[in-house]
Amino acid sequence: MQKHELNAIHGAYFDTINIIQADCAQDVLERAMQLCGWYHRLLNRFEEGGDLYAINHAGGQAVSVHPRTAELLTAGLEICRASGGAFNMCIGPLTRLWNFKSPSPVLPDATALEEMKAFCDWKKVEIDGTRVRIPQGFEIDVGGIAKGYITDRVAEFLSENGARHAVLNFGGNIVTIGKRPDGKPWTIGLQTPGGEIGKDFWAAVSMENESIVTSATYARGFTLDGRRYHHILDPRTGYPVDHGLNIVTVRGRQSLYADGISTACFVLGPDEGAQLAARYGLEAAFRLDDGRVLCTPGMQLRVKHL
Ligand code: AMP
Ligand code: MG
Repeated sequence: MQKHELNAIHGAYFDTINIIQADCAQDVLERAMQLCGWYHRLLNRFEEGGDLYAINHAGGQAVSVHPRTAELLTAGLEICRASGGAFNMCIGPLTRLWNFKSPSPVLPDATALEEMKAFCDWKKVEIDGTRVRIPQGFEIDVGGIAKGYITDRVAEFLSENGARHAVLNFGGNIVTIGKRPDGKPWTIGLQTPGGEIGKDFWAAVSMENESIVTSATYARGFTLDGRRYHHILDPRTGYPVDHGLNIVTVRGRQSLYADGISTACFVLGPDEGAQLAARYGLEAAFRLDDGRVLCTPGMQLRVKHL
């Protein structure tokens, strides 16, 4: 391979398209994609065969899981605690009722949502080494953290296999390794809500050896009777959270925390969200529906508004 050449690969996992560009051989990229497939099966709550499905269908019994699953869920619980439950890994019964993936979505029944809130108490998750137990009727949903965690693990695999310059984009969870091959920082475009995917950006951020993650109303949801219902729920109400925000973008070393905290920030709103991000050493940008953007100081320095 030439000094400045990057190879690329893409694959459909985690309900999105995952793209890797890296200065390593194609077979390394293929193994990286296989690793994506392995995590996809491990953490898919809708298909039998992986750990998450087993935990969610154990009828209240403890389940032995892979150490990676235990690691992810332990970090998830920590974010639940740190965010005062704004981030709630046990939100599965509510997201199941909303069924945002359905091609013909309907509004869930208000009484059913109310009843399901009792099955979302993350404090009842028990993790003992690699044994995990949740009460019957509970359902863990790692949609708010899994892509971040997996992007970190795949970037780690690439580094261990010689990558010195790489960018991984797993449906908006971005991790960069090193700088660009020409020695400049990577420039990452932040998607404009409603704009053409991959073409319309509201800002550009320079990045080096770090991650940037976005939580957004445009990412998933549906419109009914002229009203947008997006996929990030307020665990206290069971309904999509509404702080007048349409995007939260979080930057930091670890994509796992950038991912979890971006979801938490979306639920908390700009003030409390910025405080939480600071506690994790992360920077955040909050984009309001009227187009205004509120940035923490470190983010302000890196964001170039387009
Ligand atoms: P993200 O795009 O990373 O912000 O994650 C959003 C996904 O996390 C949703 O599609 C749900 O699967 C899940 N989710 C929704 N609301 C919450 C919440 N309050 N806490 C944790 N996960 C959530
Ligand atoms: Mg997230």
